[in-house]
Amino acid sequence: MQQWNKLSKDTIRTIVFNALAENVNFYDENILGIPGSHLDNKVFYQDAPFLKDAPFLTALIHNPNHIGCHTLGASESFFRGTHQIERELIALCAEQILKAEPDSCDGYVAAGGTEANLQAIWIYRNYFRNHYGVSSDNICILCSRDSHYSMSKAANVFDLDIAMVQVDEATRALDEEHLQETIAAQKAKGKSHFIVVANMMTTMFGSVDNAEVYAAALEANDCRFMIHVDAAFGGFIYPFTNPGNMLNFQNKHITSVTLDAHKMVQAPYGTGIFLIRKGFMQHANTKEASYVEGEDFTLIGSRSGANAIAVWMILMTYGRYGWEEKITTLLNRATWLAGELDKMGISYYRDTYSNIVTIRSEFLSKEIAGRYGLVPDNHQSPRWYKIVVMDHVTIDRLIPLLEDLKVYQQEACLAE
Ligand SMILES: *Cc1c(COP(=O)(O)O)cnc(C)c1O
Repeated sequence: MQQWNKLSKDTIRTIVFNALAENVNFYDENILGIPGSHLDNKVFYQDAPFLKDAPFLTALIHNPNHIGCHTLGASESFFRGTHQIERELIALCAEQILKAEPDSCDGYVAAGGTEANLQAIWIYRNYFRNHYGVSSDNICILCSRDSHYSMSKAANVFDLDIAMVQVDEATRALDEEHLQETIAAQKAKGKSHFIVVANMMTTMFGSVDNAEVYAAALEANDCRFMIHVDAAFGGFIYPFTNPGNMLNFQNKHITSVTLDAHKMVQAPYGTGIFLIRKGFMQHANTKEASYVEGEDFTLIGSRSGANAIAVWMILMTYGRYGWEEKITTLLNRATWLAGELDKMGISYYRDTYSNIVTIRSEFLSKEIAGRYGLVPDNHQSPRWYKIVVMDHVTIDRLIPLLEDLKVYQQEACLAE
């Protein structure tokens, strides 16, 4: 079982430098066959004194390539030191956050949530084809209309049909009647195999899907299905705020999960995390990647090992309990904000366990939204604006917004 105890800065530095030392060294060794190396030494510091205290920057400069998937089979031996850190990160996310059994998952650090969602859909399309001999015409992506646009992107890239289920306007819960109708309509079009994407916090609302609703409806209709969880937004929040939730590897219906460390974890961009139960990653193998040691099971190809190191460093700096404390603070602020909106009679959506508060557009002007950088559901005719309570979104910063909302409300009353 991968441990998640807080480590000191010194320990983290030592582990990262030791890992880099196990990688190939382009400075001293005679490495003649790799089309990449450390960063250009005319442009980037190679031996500035501060680098000895800066493991992430040093990793950027060493520039290890994490091409391929390091949790199964062989990997490029040139970068074995830092591949091990990525392996630990994958195990930590799967086991400590998403309740997987030890060593039961494969995964990798993807470009982002988009790539991780595409990777899942790619794998299930190929799995259905390889295992059941069906064609793309028999396969359908199924998700709610609050899902991220990467599902539509995946449908386009992999040439699959996609069906979106309505949600309740107020609760954002799946409309079960519409789900039944959707499944019936897709069956009539010859669809028998479904790739379901369930949300653990949608981008706009922070709403969370009940995966059992999908499973029950598809089972009742004799359809085959695989369920992927899109936790790009919620994966580092919701499992801590609602530990009893069922969107994890304890749930037999769930096979894979997307996380995104460049959102709530504040890691550098390029840190999506893809996790999947063992036995499925193989369906995305590109055997033609013969020059890569261990071949390539990912969409992306070459990628920076510094990204995995950054996420690992952040999670190990906090440890489980430190992370829970950080998330508790965000949740408390979101709860406070929701309470203030209630007092003012402003209507909004918020899941009790989420740090997103989405206000109906009639309660504010475009001007107020612009002043506070609130994000609309669409830029043409917004119906909702969201506030994401992050580290920098303190109560002191929320108060001026609430005051402006109050003035807007009073002016609206006077105008009537
Ligand atoms: C942000 C987000 C994504 C896409 O993530 P990128 O990192 O921008 O590719 C996917 N799903 C959800 C729910 C998201 O919030």
